[in-house]
Amino acid sequence: MLATELTLALPAWIDAEVGATHLYADAEARIGLAIRLARRNIEEGTGGPFGAAVFDADGGLVAVGVNRVLPQHCSAAHAEVMAFVAAQARVGRARLNDDGRRYTLATSAQPCAMCYGASFWAGIDVLEIGARSQDVMELSEFDEGPLPADWIGELERRGIAVRRDVLREQAREVFHRYAELGGASY
Ligand SMILES: [Zn+2]
Repeated sequence: MLATELTLALPAWIDAEVGATHLYADAEARIGLAIRLARRNIEEGTGGPFGAAVFDADGGLVAVGVNRVLPQHCSAAHAEVMAFVAAQARVGRARLNDDGRRYTLATSAQPCAMCYGASFWAGIDVLEIGARSQDVMELSEFDEGPLPADWIGELERRGIAVRRDVLREQAREVFHRYAELGGASY
């Protein structure tokens, strides 16, 4: 029988981890949340070592995502895609910034080839990144896929500002922890 209903779900611990609503005023606070989500995801065994979150222009949290590839049997269920899908579901728009406001995606690690592509269509204005792809590939077995040589320039030409190396060391730590856990919870 064909699958006609497709469902993606975030882990049950998400609400408790994110806690009470407050503003994430700077890039460190936003990436800090993405890193916390990535770490909790592997500690809980609910997916891979990646976390992401979407924020509005005031630093208000719109949605979060964590890697859910293996639990959901879905190769597209990366943290960034999960955060985009959750944010778009919440605001009821396929393109977040069609309301004229600005949105930020903060991600614990540099987007892979798929999430890089997804970032163009999601309607974000700022992309904030913790670990670099080279960190991910140095510290884990994940393949980040091919990106254009000038991947930052391609984003910026389409109006998406990029800020990377935010809490990079802390972001790298997640992959050390993942290795300690044997990489098995992914
Ligand atoms: Zn990805």
